[in-house]
Amino acid sequence: MNRREIIQHIRNNPKVSVLILGGGVNGIGVFRDLGLQGIDVLLVERADYCSGTSAASSRMVHGGLRYLENREFQLVRESVQERNWLLEFAPHAVQPQPSAIPFFHWFSGLLNAPLKFLSLLNRPAERGAIITKIGLYIYDAFTGTRGTIPRHKFLQRADARQQFPGINPKLLGIAIYYDAQMALAERICVEMILDTEKLCSKAHALNYVSLTGCQDNGIVLLDTLSGEKLFVQPKILINATGPWIDDVNNSLGQPTNYIGGTKGSHIIINNSCLYNALNEYLLFFENSDGRYVMMCRLGECVLVGSTDIYCSQPDEAICTPEEEDYFLKMIQHIFPDITVKPEEIVFRFSGVRPLPTAKAKLTGQITRNHRIETIKPTSERIYPILNLVGGKWTTFRSFAEQVTNKTLDFLNLKRVVDSRTGSLGGGKDYPKSQQEINQWLTNLGRQTGVSEEILKTWFTRYGTRAAEFALFASGQVSDNPLQSLPEYSQAEIIFILRNEKVVHLDDFLLRRSLIAMEGKITNELIRELSKIFQTELGWDETGRMDEINRLFDLLEKKHNFTIE
Ligand SMILES: Cc1cc2nc3c(=O)[nH]c(=O)nc-3n(C[C@H](O)[C@H](O)[C@H](O)COP(=O)(O)OP(=O)(O)OC[C@H]3O[C@@H](n4cnc5c(N)ncnc54)[C@H](O)[C@@H]3O)c2cc1C
Repeated sequence: MNRREIIQHIRNNPKVSVLILGGGVNGIGVFRDLGLQGIDVLLVERADYCSGTSAASSRMVHGGLRYLENREFQLVRESVQERNWLLEFAPHAVQPQPSAIPFFHWFSGLLNAPLKFLSLLNRPAERGAIITKIGLYIYDAFTGTRGTIPRHKFLQRADARQQFPGINPKLLGIAIYYDAQMALAERICVEMILDTEKLCSKAHALNYVSLTGCQDNGIVLLDTLSGEKLFVQPKILINATGPWIDDVNNSLGQPTNYIGGTKGSHIIINNSCLYNALNEYLLFFENSDGRYVMMCRLGECVLVGSTDIYCSQPDEAICTPEEEDYFLKMIQHIFPDITVKPEEIVFRFSGVRPLPTAKAKLTGQITRNHRIETIKPTSERIYPILNLVGGKWTTFRSFAEQVTNKTLDFLNLKRVVDSRTGSLGGGKDYPKSQQEINQWLTNLGRQTGVSEEILKTWFTRYGTRAAEFALFASGQVSDNPLQSLPEYSQAEIIFILRNEKVVHLDDFLLRRSLIAMEGKITNELIRELSKIFQTELGWDETGRMDEINRLFDLLEKKHNFTIE
């Protein structure tokens, strides 16, 4: 069903088993799992899918080495398993990421780590090589023997400096280990929505629909595109609004205090020296203040982050000049000879982690684990509210599994499908080797007449969904590269507009592609794209100008980005 049909369906049938508020990765994970079980479920997201915290992550699919220090062994084990699952079932979007921890001391942290472990240390402090090594042994043990990714190794100073020529000469060595990266996390979310709606005719999702309140044992929603109010009567309400959970409960007349979020920012840098210096590795290291930070390649640029600062206003989160300064100093600490010019910072983003309220003095000590908080039904409200508190991107499937199990219990139903089965989006029927990939591309080229060069690009971006793009393109009278950004084609954009629930320019530029993140937005591109959008989405000229202004406004306010 398209948006209009879903809304008509809600008008006719306000009753639904499950209503999910929030289309971040956790809400979408639950949507997917419930869809797999054939449950009728509606997910509504007040903005675009994956535009809240889920768009602000460091894009690491990781076990969380540093959580060992906080004694979160179970979380690390679970995260490592989920990382391995994603590598297997979303190979188009989640790739192994060689990672490296440079260290400058052998022994520091030998005292601090046990103190932290016993919760007796409340100040940040650097860890040395020995502590890092112990952590990596435990990490490897959790990775198991299936060989999804290699085990860690240590390089002494000479080898380390050979591998990373520009690195700070004070370094003593480097620990090499493996995690994973999801460069365009936002696409995984949209693909899960599309998969679920295709698989289960009773699962529907709407972006740009927000909660306004509750009445008559139901929920009032607002279609923010048309202004229409919609009434829904769920048997269960799932509050998956991340850092906004307490605000939503307030609107429902059920005040809570579950979330004590922390803000984290990132910058994206276009600097070839830094790009080359990273040598394909994600550098994960302690800044001089003892906080773990990272930098890695993201497309053709370098992603640097993140901070961890208490924040109670998730809507206000932006990357401040102080944070930017912090990042630039940390780059200097690791690569003293590399200077990043201000104009090389091509994008900034920030989000608030939906962490549980905690009394920890250091934000890093707050658990990254997840839990479900249940608000029981009352005589005025027949449905329970399940609140999803915490949770990492990496663990969305296992968290969703817990929530789904609880939901099935309430509905008196049994699980029929394990959510570990079935690939995500373009990971379906993914070729197993480079040779199979080449064969797959050649066959598709023969079938559709699309050039192998374009197919390779689409395969990298969309995995095996490239076949759908190619079939669509071959059915068009012609397909030309965009004049302002030839690495994208007109048919490619039109296919996305028709099939991926795009409403605004920013949905495409920020969340269906890496264009914004790589700093590739230009005036020419916006003008060219807005014309394609106008034809496809039926905007009039005023609507097109409004959309352009909306984009400028959002880029400036949320990302401190202005277009010359
Ligand atoms: C700086 C930073 C770095 C991180 N790095 C990593 C990492 O590398 N790896 C990792 O695994 N995890 C990482 N995380 C954690 C991870 O990103 C989050 O825990 C996860 O994305 C939370 O997802 P969510 O679905 O719970 O929340 P969100 O993504 O915030 O989703 C909630 C949604 O609810 C919507 N909403 C709010 N109010 C309403 C309403 N009234 N009606 C309808 N919808 C509403 C919002 O628009 C939002 O889209 C990081 C987090 C941050 C902030």
